[in-house]
Amino acid sequence: MPSHERHADVLLIGGGVAAARCARTLRRKGFVGSILLVGEESRPPYNRPPLSKELLRGVVDPALIAAEPEGWYERHAVELWTDGTVSELRASERLARTGDGRSISFERCLIATGAEPRVPDIPGAQHAQTLRTAQDAAAIRGAALAAGADARLVVMGGGFIGVEVAASLAAMGSAVTVLERSGQLWAGALGETLSNWAAGHLLRLGVELRFGATATSLDADSVWMGDVHLAAALVVAGIGVRPRESLAAAAGLEIADGILVDEARSAAPGIYAAGDVARGPHPLADGDRIRVEHWHSAREGGQAAALAMLGLDPGPPPAPWVYTEFAGQLVDVVGWAPDRDAERVLGDLASDRFAVAYLRGDRVAQLAVVNGWLPVERARALVESRSPASQLQRLVGAN
Ligand code: NAP
Repeated sequence: MPSHERHADVLLIGGGVAAARCARTLRRKGFVGSILLVGEESRPPYNRPPLSKELLRGVVDPALIAAEPEGWYERHAVELWTDGTVSELRASERLARTGDGRSISFERCLIATGAEPRVPDIPGAQHAQTLRTAQDAAAIRGAALAAGADARLVVMGGGFIGVEVAASLAAMGSAVTVLERSGQLWAGALGETLSNWAAGHLLRLGVELRFGATATSLDADSVWMGDVHLAAALVVAGIGVRPRESLAAAAGLEIADGILVDEARSAAPGIYAAGDVARGPHPLADGDRIRVEHWHSAREGGQAAALAMLGLDPGPPPAPWVYTEFAGQLVDVVGWAPDRDAERVLGDLASDRFAVAYLRGDRVAQLAVVNGWLPVERARALVESRSPASQLQRLVGAN
């Protein structure tokens, strides 16, 4: 083997929680082969959920968001190449090449390259700050503090990032305006009831919400919406992400808004994919392949890929589980219901402890649980067993 070549029994491409969880599962299951993880950032994998919350507000030590405790990779003989890029993948030869010219041969490989933020397609887009990395969170925090309490900050997008970042910046004392293109928070994905309830909490924090609004251009200190001008000391864009699939596409893997994977989370012989970049079948999606862009799913996907690599059955994927925290409120959403027929509120909205059930036909397809109204595992089991809506009445009685 030439000196610039390396062999890894398992190559993990991507430095997020999907890759970290894959490594952990392999070791937990007794895998003794070599594992090499190549990640683009300069630090080991970390949890991204705190970026828009505790890290932005400066209430957590950045070291504490690490996916694994210090020394874990050394102790478990997982080699980390940080600041590294895999620039080419030859799937049939089981060979990868890094940006700095190193070759890696492998037996099995996980592609967990994640997603990248969409950048607004408008003049002056370079003035918008996106949020994906701990460095981005530090930059937004620094800019907000430097702007001072009198300055107005604008958040483009009222989705997961928009809601959480707006709440965090407002909690830090900033004046914040959210521009959401649709008529509801989360672009209506969580329905009108939850959007209105969350909007109430953001308004109480002093956040200004503008629906049906989008920026048409940006400059260094303002946002333009047509002829309307809004001063903005900082613009944060949270307008969605796109999967980072170009490496897999160039390798000839099947791509359709994500790398297509099968039940075993495998994309081609020896190649697996997990996390934001993977699109796989899901029992709750009636055979459709879905891509779930959330922390739980990345970890569970990394774990499933590890099991599949070892020839073990990962079982059906659990119901997607998303959680969001803002303005002191916690919302857990389990299930999958983009095509729901109806919504039903359970419990007392005014008490901030309730749930919203999203129904497809007479089945509960998704549940949003606010502030622990129902244990998440129970909600997940309810959705996974495709419980009929008639069971919801019992939940109300039990809570
Ligand atoms: P997102 O949740 O998909 O929301 C994007 C929002 O921006 C949508 O409401 C969208 O509405 C709106 N939008 C799109 N273009 C716009 C424009 N030009 N002007 C105004 N609004 C616009 O994406 P995100 O908030 O950017 O989050 C990025 C990723 O991070 C996602 O994968 C998300 O799941 C993840 N994340 C998750 C959490 C969590 O799980 N708690 C927290 C933070 C981030 P339309 O579609 O109607 O345009």
